[in-house]
Amino acid sequence: MPEVIDLTLLTDSSDESEVDEEESDSGTMESSQYAEEPLDGPHREQLHVAIGAVPELRLRELVTRLCDHVPTVERAFFKELVVVRELEDEVAEEVKKYGNRKRVREVAPLWEPCANCEEEFDTNEEREEGECEFHPGDLEVDEASFVDWDEDCHGPMDTPSNRRSFPENFTWSCCEADGTTAGCVRGEHIPQGGRKKRRIS
Ligand SMILES: [Zn+2]
Ligand SMILES: [Zn+2]
Repeated sequence: MPEVIDLTLLTDSSDESEVDEEESDSGTMESSQYAEEPLDGPHREQLHVAIGAVPELRLRELVTRLCDHVPTVERAFFKELVVVRELEDEVAEEVKKYGNRKRVREVAPLWEPCANCEEEFDTNEEREEGECEFHPGDLEVDEASFVDWDEDCHGPMDTPSNRRSFPENFTWSCCEADGTTAGCVRGEHIPQGGRKKRRIS
């Protein structure tokens, strides 16, 4: 018997995500009465298109809701996204001393954007010197490069879209290199959410 995932909770939640909270807590969401087959090709293709189009926030809400209601989904996402690792010896000793625990582990997100270069990286991999290239300074607009650009009719020069479209018209304050240049400092990736690590025993 294949694992069954009841997706019916998704059908009428498209406009108000808050209102549905109570309904979705009712028992019907817990497990499906219908042994559903996997989608056929065309439906699966449509689903992939929809996944590509759905706003990120809504996707996060849906994933969270599915995880809360469907244990199989919850476990699958835990496995994909969370890393559980033993703490380094010295740290573990400290925690044991105060926490009176036998085994000390840490849970943290597996994938995180780097606080320096913003690239997404696998936090469970061993860090490697030089893997991260970044500019510690700020990206500043080089007004002379915006030839014939009138902010009154073209809009401001320094916008995220201009930074992407005309990186050569910007200068890094750290090294004076233009916006197309690879980072002037090399180091290791650092998780942005380092503060969110939690210890479990
Ligand atoms: Zn730099
Ligand atoms: Zn990095």
